[in-house]
Amino acid sequence: MNMTPNNIIGITEYGAAQKVPGSNILLRIGNKYYLIDIGSHYNNRLDKEPLPFDARTIDCLTESHGHGDHMGLSLKLLKSGFKGRTFATYCTADLTLLQNNQAVKSVFVYNKMVKGKKIPGTNQWIPFKKIEYNDADVKGFMNTFESYDKSHLGFPYNVPIKLSEDAEIMFLEAGHIPGSAQILLTINKDGRKIKILNAVDLGRTDYNITDHPIADIPIVRSPDTKLPKDIDYVVIEATYGDRTHKPLADSLGTLEEAIKDAYKQKGKLIIPAFSIMRTQMLEYFFFKFNELGRLPKDFMVYLSSPSAVDVNKMILEHPEDMDTNARKDFKNKLKNPFNFEKLIIHNKWTETDEIARSASALSSAIIASSGMCDYGRIVSVLENTISDPKNIILLTGYVSPGTRGYLLQNKEKKIPFPDGLVDLKADVRKMGGMSGHADCKEMLAHLKHIKDPAKREQFKGIFIKHGEKEACYALKRELIKAGYDVASIHVMERGKEYAL
Ligand SMILES: [Zn+2]
Repeated sequence: MNMTPNNIIGITEYGAAQKVPGSNILLRIGNKYYLIDIGSHYNNRLDKEPLPFDARTIDCLTESHGHGDHMGLSLKLLKSGFKGRTFATYCTADLTLLQNNQAVKSVFVYNKMVKGKKIPGTNQWIPFKKIEYNDADVKGFMNTFESYDKSHLGFPYNVPIKLSEDAEIMFLEAGHIPGSAQILLTINKDGRKIKILNAVDLGRTDYNITDHPIADIPIVRSPDTKLPKDIDYVVIEATYGDRTHKPLADSLGTLEEAIKDAYKQKGKLIIPAFSIMRTQMLEYFFFKFNELGRLPKDFMVYLSSPSAVDVNKMILEHPEDMDTNARKDFKNKLKNPFNFEKLIIHNKWTETDEIARSASALSSAIIASSGMCDYGRIVSVLENTISDPKNIILLTGYVSPGTRGYLLQNKEKKIPFPDGLVDLKADVRKMGGMSGHADCKEMLAHLKHIKDPAKREQFKGIFIKHGEKEACYALKRELIKAGYDVASIHVMERGKEYAL
């Protein structure tokens, strides 16, 4: 086949191929280059290496949502010479600003906090982090954003957006976090018209089918399933390609039991949580428990996470992203899930430390970030609470090997902190089922809305990414079982260009 650079349409994944972090797709349409996501690899060496493509040649970047593994290298892209335009939904544009501001600030805070400390049990000093980006870079990147109208950076859902003579995109609800979008790309090139759907990260669809009184609270709307039938290619995630989630009702049961037990034992309930969405869902759960009279009268909930508070504010500014039930709950400015009488927000970490250290007989919950327990305010909260057997540590999601959260999950006898090892005597529990990603079953159902093999409908290509190798291949097997043509399914390989 004669493929000159002018007629080729190719797709390459440069990060999240057979692994989860680092989403970074390069689309080549003739001699134009488009990026979908520019995600961080989460401290992997790839974050330090030069970008695998020439940033100066990129015509535009489209962001699927505001999580770091999808936009975390945006400042690096800018510093590598990106002169193109950036497209995202309104809320994703806001989250990008927030995340990049935090990234710049956190390096300063980190350097201030670890000054003069040694890695426990060793003679090595904890290294200072290099200051790579500043406020001007954050501003510089925000200047690349395009907008639908002058009122706000970004775009609404469901409107066609022209990228060039050859390409158009549309954002569709992905139901993963506020602002998250499936990206529908239409290419019209040299008489060929193709449609590609990027459905990474895709949210949950089954929140609403549990029978727990408060399970019907996704905050964000479910993924848009009113998709056009003429989609040729799909890019999907395999984060949970080999799993089916536990119902959300199970998680709520675990949370309610932990509240009751902590209260009975006069202990504290410590919940490490990510600041985007995990914390907000927890706030929502506590709000609903309180509304239904299922929270003990003198039980308080302390939120200690400045970044989560910023995300709270941002979510309130984007009711367009909310589920109908959530919109009702958040409408009341005086009594909404982020502002109710039992929720106390700590602006200073010393206030939280005081609560964590206090020997008060009153039980309470403390929510702090980060979920992996390696940085943020949760570190000192844990340091002050894990040696008391009355306390309960409730992990709310995946903790990766090598993190303090992982050591807690494994119930190691001694947990390292910057000031030394601390005995773990508190009860460590895990709350599953809160994932914001579609599982294998949900992903298959989503694809079936577009092309149903039972009706002899097939995609020209299905690209699987954003999942560990085993999960990617497990999802491939499920797709074949469901009747999708084996030749059309590709488990993406990093750096390999697939011709469309
Ligand atoms: Zn995500």
